[in-house]
Amino acid sequence: MPTAKLLFTPGPLTTSATVKGAMLRDAGSRDRDFLQTVREIRERLLAIGGAPFPNPADQYECVPMQGSGTFAIESVISSAIPRNGKLLVLVNGAYGRRMAQMTRIHGIETETLDTPENRKISPEAVAERLAPPRGITHVAVVHCETTTGLLNPVEAIGAVVKQADAVYIVDAMSSFGAIPLNLAAARIDFLISSANKCIEGVPGFGFVLARRGRILEAKGQARTLSLDLHAQWAGFESDGQFRFTPPTHALLAFRQALHELEAEGGVAGRAARYRTNHAVLVRGMAKLGFQTYLAPEDQSYIITAFRYPEHPRFQFDDFYGRLSESGFIIYPGKLTSEACFRIGTIGRLSPTDIDALLAAIRRVLREMGVSRGVRAAR
Ligand SMILES: *Cc1c(COP(=O)(O)O)cnc(C)c1O
Repeated sequence: MPTAKLLFTPGPLTTSATVKGAMLRDAGSRDRDFLQTVREIRERLLAIGGAPFPNPADQYECVPMQGSGTFAIESVISSAIPRNGKLLVLVNGAYGRRMAQMTRIHGIETETLDTPENRKISPEAVAERLAPPRGITHVAVVHCETTTGLLNPVEAIGAVVKQADAVYIVDAMSSFGAIPLNLAAARIDFLISSANKCIEGVPGFGFVLARRGRILEAKGQARTLSLDLHAQWAGFESDGQFRFTPPTHALLAFRQALHELEAEGGVAGRAARYRTNHAVLVRGMAKLGFQTYLAPEDQSYIITAFRYPEHPRFQFDDFYGRLSESGFIIYPGKLTSEACFRIGTIGRLSPTDIDALLAAIRRVLREMGVSRGVRAAR
């Protein structure tokens, strides 16, 4: 078997041996034990989002959806917006752009509010866009823009969206489980995340946490059969089952991952480890001469973009390949304008792993002849 590598990526991530081990059995998708696993997962996810909520009007449901995270987002986008609805997508990175791309495919009337990739979305700018007579009914935003690691102010935007009486959709793919967020307090109608990000499960499904009333409104609105959010929820309601073949092994692994999240002290405990990982990384990279793309106050502890060093011998593919051979997988950049690569600090990684990565980077730079006086491009 090839040796295991550590993943410093935004997903799939490094997972624990026990999460991987939970997959070493086959489960019948209609078996009682398995249905209990699905029920437990749905309940635990709602609890991470803040359930039980003190206000009975805030009744949320959890709808797991087969596929990667994008499938779960597309399920919301293609189910939640009525034929006469109009969506405003707040864009400051690739994942915001992807949501806008979906709406074009489904023929949904859409506007975007574009913000530079190194800037947070401004709630005031959103308020301006929501003023009549534009007729915007739904607003979608990305919590942690994984393109850069930037964290958008979803609570403040939520207040503005609520003020305008619009429906609020949040892609919290790379933040849910590691950055505290209360669904009701942030006025969220639909939140989307997936199994293989900060909960530290394996890929195979995403999930939607949504207000029950909003799911009911989505009945009959879906533009696809398989990603029909209301129908998927109605299936769980009636017999506790997925409508179509569930990723059984991924669900077994995920249940284990949720137990390990709880054992770590829940979201607060996980946030503390990731924050330390990030601090160790940024300090070590600065010593090696690397600059972060974002200003520290806009940067999350999830993933960090670093500028390429301005050195004729620095070739990203070579850098990446040498690190991979040493057992460390980093991530290419996804910015429209600047040459950056990214290093994730989420998944089953400890500060010791970050130190090991930093040592490998130091050695690889020396091998490449880029060791001394690395200065980042401006
Ligand atoms: C990972 C991610 C997604 C979904 O990506 P998939 O590859 O479909 O799992 C969507 N939005 C954000 C912000 C992400 O980080």
